[in-house]
Amino acid sequence: MPATGSRPTPHYIGRFAPSPSGPLHLGSLLAALASYLDAAAHQGTWLLRIEDIDPPREIAGASQAIIQSLQQHGLHWQGDIIWQSKHSENFDQALNQLRLQGDLFECSCSRRQLAPFHGIHQLSCIAPPQPGNAALRLKVADRHIQFVDRLQGSQSENLRQVGGDPILRRRDGLYAYHLAAVVDDMHSGITDIVRGIDLLDATPTQLYLQERLGAPAPRYLHIPVLAGQVGEKLSKQRGAPAIDDTQPSDNLRRCLAYLGQTPPPAELQQPTDILNWAAQRWQPDAIPHQKEILVP
Ligand SMILES: [Zn+2]
Repeated sequence: MPATGSRPTPHYIGRFAPSPSGPLHLGSLLAALASYLDAAAHQGTWLLRIEDIDPPREIAGASQAIIQSLQQHGLHWQGDIIWQSKHSENFDQALNQLRLQGDLFECSCSRRQLAPFHGIHQLSCIAPPQPGNAALRLKVADRHIQFVDRLQGSQSENLRQVGGDPILRRRDGLYAYHLAAVVDDMHSGITDIVRGIDLLDATPTQLYLQERLGAPAPRYLHIPVLAGQVGEKLSKQRGAPAIDDTQPSDNLRRCLAYLGQTPPPAELQQPTDILNWAAQRWQPDAIPHQKEILVP
């Protein structure tokens, strides 16, 4: 048995993982900034992963626009950009492992058939699976998953109720978000995930998937999302405007204020100076304990 304290504390590895379904808006900049500052405050590594696994939803030029916005705001990542679309081999390998463990089943239930259950699939199929036209779902256990979010505190959700049996590979053959995110986090050795609270409900499912794949669970910090109106998160789908890359310092100051951080002194003008200053004073506990922050 190793002596107490002989295991080194794992190095901090965080990531920002946008999908190229549109340019960065203020809400996504907020998430990028929080995740960047948390990594910097821990002298950690911050990775950029483009989640380009859904070509039908991809907007031409969005990846480049996102990359450029991050650079303009001084949000520099370490290493090469990780393109999720290049990892089919890893995703297939994970699916194979799950299949051998008996964790997968084929499903041809339609969205309409699942509508009475709020789209949540719970173990038994409504329609028999059609060979060659079926999604692959993860069979979840009927149990509670518990975790402690660094901001939101103790969480406990029943897997079947919160997400049901999630799709891991879609009927059209595309890999689904949960699978790609969890497998890529595992391969990158991600230790810390900082993201919007709209993904809090995805966390129990992802923790369960990590467990089935034998991956260590990262720590989580879910921050509030920006909303134009109550219940209306700023999003690419709702047409939130792209951030103005010519005003990076103003955008960063605005986001720091939303995150409850001390305002940087006015003489700091360059984005990198603002970021360095803010990273040294990063206080996750000062982030407002609310789900949404309304922006004018
Ligand atoms: Zn089904």
